[in-house]
Amino acid sequence: MSSSMAERGTAPLVEVCNLEKRFPVQRGLFGRGVGQVHAVDGVSFRIAASETLGLVGESGCGKSTAGRTLLRLLEPSGGEIHFRGEEITALNAQAMLPYRQRMQMIHQDPYASLNPRMTAGEIVGEPLTIHGVGLRAERRERVAQLFDRVGLRPEQMHAYPHEFSGGQRQRIGIARALALNPALIVCDEPVSALDVSIQAQIINLLTDLQEEYGLSYLFVAHDLAVVEHISHRVAVMYLGRIVELTDRSTLFEAPLHPYTEALLSAVPVPRVSARRRKRVILAGDVPSPVNRPTGCHFHTRCLYAHARCRAEAPALREVSEGHLVACHLHDAGPKLPLAKPA
Ligand code: SF4
Repeated sequence: MSSSMAERGTAPLVEVCNLEKRFPVQRGLFGRGVGQVHAVDGVSFRIAASETLGLVGESGCGKSTAGRTLLRLLEPSGGEIHFRGEEITALNAQAMLPYRQRMQMIHQDPYASLNPRMTAGEIVGEPLTIHGVGLRAERRERVAQLFDRVGLRPEQMHAYPHEFSGGQRQRIGIARALALNPALIVCDEPVSALDVSIQAQIINLLTDLQEEYGLSYLFVAHDLAVVEHISHRVAVMYLGRIVELTDRSTLFEAPLHPYTEALLSAVPVPRVSARRRKRVILAGDVPSPVNRPTGCHFHTRCLYAHARCRAEAPALREVSEGHLVACHLHDAGPKLPLAKPA
């Protein structure tokens, strides 16, 4: 069964509708508000059980913020977050507790995210202690199981983070994320700080854990080769908005959005067709999220930009089953009911 069928056939594990996250921009001695950064601007997607949704885009496009807002590590500025059909957008800290157990995160830099004064065993067992799970001996047993499951030796429970390699530290981060039996893990660039050979080991571990525990992943990354390897579906973000979302093979073999095409042409992904290998140079940098271009945010860098692109933001439309694109070149499909109006 394709992942898009899986998504349609079952209730999604998690669903975000028109999610927004804005940050105030302040200047001067008194922190006068001079604008807002629209880090996440009307993002909607679903993730089914046992599914991996890749979220890709250049640095600063809002993908990590979207992941953190989904987990409510950042408070959303607008939109809705649903987990197993329950809206959790505005739950207070107490009401969020059971959901926090089900939704975990793996960070980009395992070293920065591990407390250097705690042993690896204490770090992995910390979520169990915080949530009051089991007796002390049971927690120790659980930590030992988790060490074994992620490929660490039991005696390493007593070592400190600086005594581990980068790949081992990421295994500690994964064990900690698994401690409370989550259903969803937001993986925020989990392998980008690692050597390529180690990256493959961590990706394989995440894939095995998904099969074993039925985990869902939101996999945030800028490396398309990694995303292609692990994702069932992929969403491409540009300046806070999703510009294309479809299943993995369609995205890599027949992308429709000019930005996706440019991203793909820049990396040597073997499956990409010869047409895709034709290099499309992305001119310039990503514009400032404080002063975003009018209309389609991508028009300042798009090879196909025309007058309408500068005036009108394209809505995200379903151009074929499960394939969503926000581009005036593909305006024929129905506008998504959840998409933000242009
Ligand atoms: Fe390019 Fe226009 Fe499509 Fe935006 S809407 S991606 S500027 S063609």
